[in-house]
Amino acid sequence: MGRSTAWSLCRSGNHVVLLDGGHAEKGSWGESRIARLSYADPVMVRLARRSYELYGTLSQKASQPIMYKTGCLDVSCRKDLLDNLAKTYEDLGQPYERLNHKQVEQRWPVLQLTTDYVQASVYCPEGDAVALGVVMETLKDQIHTLAGPAAYIDESVVSIDRQKKTVTTEDGTVISYSKLVLAAGIWTNGLLQKMNLSLLPLVATIEQNTYYAPSKGREPLYGISAMPVVKEHMPPPNGMKKFGGYMIPHMPNGVEGVKFGMHRQGPVLEHEDFPVLPGSAAAVERHFRSAQTRGRDLWCRRWPEDEDSYLRSETDAYCKRILPSLQVHRSELTMRCPYDQHLYADEDFVVGFHPDDPDVVVVAGFAGEGFKFAPAIGEMASSLITGQTFAVPELIHRFRLNRPNYLK
Ligand SMILES: Cc1cc2nc3c(=O)[nH]c(=O)nc-3n(C[C@H](O)[C@H](O)[C@H](O)COP(=O)(O)OP(=O)(O)OC[C@H]3O[C@@H](n4cnc5c(N)ncnc54)[C@H](O)[C@@H]3O)c2cc1C
Repeated sequence: MGRSTAWSLCRSGNHVVLLDGGHAEKGSWGESRIARLSYADPVMVRLARRSYELYGTLSQKASQPIMYKTGCLDVSCRKDLLDNLAKTYEDLGQPYERLNHKQVEQRWPVLQLTTDYVQASVYCPEGDAVALGVVMETLKDQIHTLAGPAAYIDESVVSIDRQKKTVTTEDGTVISYSKLVLAAGIWTNGLLQKMNLSLLPLVATIEQNTYYAPSKGREPLYGISAMPVVKEHMPPPNGMKKFGGYMIPHMPNGVEGVKFGMHRQGPVLEHEDFPVLPGSAAAVERHFRSAQTRGRDLWCRRWPEDEDSYLRSETDAYCKRILPSLQVHRSELTMRCPYDQHLYADEDFVVGFHPDDPDVVVVAGFAGEGFKFAPAIGEMASSLITGQTFAVPELIHRFRLNRPNYLK
C-alpha cells in the first residue's frame, strides 16, 4: 500500500519520500496473490476494475509478467451465497457463467468439487494469479525512476513528531513532511501510539498457506494455464466476519505445487508491539469465527515459528473438497503471513484522515483482501492528499476511520 501510494503521488508530480523498515513478516510477502472482480458489492467491483487498469499500466513497466489470466471460480456449499454475486455481474454486464459441479469437472478435469459440499459455482473470466514479487519490485523501480533513488529509504521509522512534522529513522535521519500517509499493516496501531494519536479498532492475526505438490509428471494439470483461481464462500455464523478458503494454481517457475489457504482462521497476535483498543478481545470472541474453532489456540503471544496444525488440517480438508487428486501429504512448503484485521462493524477497508490530525492519512485493515486493490487504494490515499477526484468517490466516506465498530 505504501509503494502504491508513493507511485501514485509520483505520477502526479508530487514530492514524496517512502520509508520502509523492510519487516520480513509483512502482509505483502510470498509468491502470489489472487486478483478478482468477484464481490457482490458493485462498488467494490468498480474499485477492483480501477485496480486492474492500474495493474495494466504497471505491467507495461515490468520486466516480467505481473498478472496471469486464469479466470476466477467462486464456489460455495450454499447456492444462495453466490446469487448476489451473479446478480451484480448481471447488473454490471460482466461476463460470467453459473456452473454445477459436473460442468466444473468437464471444463477443468482435476477440479472435482465434492457434491454435497460445493453444489454451485460462478465463473468469471476476469481473475488472475498475481506475481507478488514482480509487483513489489516494479513499484520500487517506478518510484526510483519517477522521483529518484532518494525517494525510497530502507529504514525503520522510530519516531514521528507531529508538532515539528518530522519523521526520524533508526539511523537518525530526520525527514520533514507536510502530509503523512501511514500504511504500516499490522504495525499501524504501534505507530499511532508513538505519534500520540488515538488507536484504531485493529487486530493482527497470523495466517498460513500451504503448497500441495502433484505427483511427478502431473504438474501441467495444476498450473495457471490449466485451472482458474478458486475462492470459497462459507456461510458465516450470525454476526461473524466472513471466512473461507482460496486456491492459486502453480505459477511458472514458482514454488512447487498448488497454493491453498484459509481466510481469517489464524490466531490473534497478543503482544505489546501490536496494541489494541480496550474491549478488543471480547469483540474478537464475538465476531471472529476462529474464536469458535480454535479454542485456547486463539491467542498467540509471539510470531509463531512452527506450522499451525489447525490451519494445516483446514487446508488439507479444503484441498480434498476441491482438488482430491492432489496428494495432501505431499506438502512442499508452509508459509505464515499476517492479516491486518479490524473490528469495524462491516467488511470495508480503512482509508482516511485520522480524526485527530488532518495531516495524517491511515491506510489499513485489509484483512487478507488488499493486494488486488493496492494500486487503486494507493490512488485513493494520494487523492486524499492532493484533493484530486478519485475514481470511486463514494468509498471516501465508506472507508473513513470514525465509523461504527464493535467496541462502541
Ligand atoms: C497469506 C495471505 C494471503 C493473501 N492473499 C491475498 C489474495 O489472494 N488477494 C489479495 O488481494 N490479498 C491477499 N492478501 C492480503 C494482502 O497481501 C494484504 O492486504 C496486503 O499485502 C497488505 O499490504 P500493506 O501494505 O497494507 O501491509 P504490509 O505489506 O504488511 O506492509 C506494511 C509495511 O510497513 C512497514 N513498516 C512497519 N513498521 C514500520 C516502521 N516503524 N518503519 C518503517 N516501515 C515500517 C513494514 O516493513 C511493511 O513493509 C493475503 C495476505 C496474506 C497474509
